[in-house]
Amino acid sequence: MRSFIHINARTLNDALRALAEYNGKARLNAGGTDLIGVLKDGFLTEAPKAVVNIKTIPDLDGVDKDEGGLKIGALARLSDLANSPTIKGGCRVLAEAARAVGSPQIRNVATIGGNLCQDIRCWYYRYPRHIGGPIQCLRKGSGPCLAVKGDNRYHAVMGGKKCFAVCPSDTAVALAALNAQIIIADVKGERKVAVTEFYHPIGNELQNTEMVKAIEIPDIPGETRQAFLKFTLRESIDFAIVSVASIIAVENGICTDARIALGAVAPSPIRAKTAEKLIVGQPIDKDLAHEAARLALEKARPLSRNAYKVEIAQTLVERAILGQVPANP
Ligand SMILES: Cc1cc2nc3c(=O)[nH]c(=O)nc-3n(C[C@H](O)[C@H](O)[C@H](O)COP(=O)(O)OP(=O)(O)OC[C@H]3O[C@@H](n4cnc5c(N)ncnc54)[C@H](O)[C@@H]3O)c2cc1C
Ligand code: SF4
Repeated sequence: MRSFIHINARTLNDALRALAEYNGKARLNAGGTDLIGVLKDGFLTEAPKAVVNIKTIPDLDGVDKDEGGLKIGALARLSDLANSPTIKGGCRVLAEAARAVGSPQIRNVATIGGNLCQDIRCWYYRYPRHIGGPIQCLRKGSGPCLAVKGDNRYHAVMGGKKCFAVCPSDTAVALAALNAQIIIADVKGERKVAVTEFYHPIGNELQNTEMVKAIEIPDIPGETRQAFLKFTLRESIDFAIVSVASIIAVENGICTDARIALGAVAPSPIRAKTAEKLIVGQPIDKDLAHEAARLALEKARPLSRNAYKVEIAQTLVERAILGQVPANP
């Protein structure tokens, strides 16, 4: 690992000032479950000059409820979100997504801010220095996207423009279904951006001097059926091949509201708006769910080796709509 200056931020302003001072040459360290691996594997084009430890900032890990909804601090740990009665009560889909991340050891230190901002998992991008990396590619600013003609079995099937790496965050998918906003801060102030607008074809919305401060989730009126479905190759400690977060309201057999978000199929979590529109106002049955699932993936344009992801995504959407989801522990 390259050497760097280590800064313990005692306040949010400490962290923001350090980001401003190093202007793109500092990295924040929250739980460190992604960042430490990134630094050890040495695949970044430019190693950071400073690492700013933000775990030392008090009061940035709260889960607060007011009349408008929930506010979650960026340092809230995934295990706390998975077990929080407030989260399980109002937005169960987020508790399920948090529980689906990695392992108990990872969830006990990993934060929601880090989960949203974690680096992509493309194996060309992450090729480690100690076995011959780093490998250059379009995302690193030199050459083409190697996944287009290479091994792209885990890459995007829709929404890919220059880089085809998928957004690896499980919580981002749940937050997309929840219409959540990310509160971004820098030394000059704060701004908000919808989770679905946070991810760009290369990178995310954060400027060099900015960090995620909190996440806001508006209240969901009435009773809803919420689920986070995740298809992985291994049973545990694995990233999603495809995930689906759904929030569906049904009254007297008729769907009155539907929100369906797809994960790991694109560089950003994607809302399946045409599928949502189809089922609202209809009695839910197998044929309707099947057609909605087809519509959810109608814009898919798979690469040479990942068409299988489309079929898996359609199956998960269909199951989410029909309520065929595993029981929660
Ligand atoms: C074995 C293993 C399995 C995993 N499985 C999953 C999985 O199934 N699903 C999944 O979603 N993820 C998974 N991860 C990825 C990741 O480690 C976790 O998602 C975790 O939530 C990251 O949070 P952290 O607090 O540890 O982030 P860190 O490692 O501290 O930070 C990650 C990145 O985000 C930046 N960052 C952190 N906090 C902020 C902030 N507040 N504002 C701006 N930038 C910030 C850091 O600078 C860094 O670039 C896995 C990781 C490992 C090692
Ligand atoms: S998918 Fe993105 S990170 Fe991976 S090789 Fe292509 S440009 Fe690089």
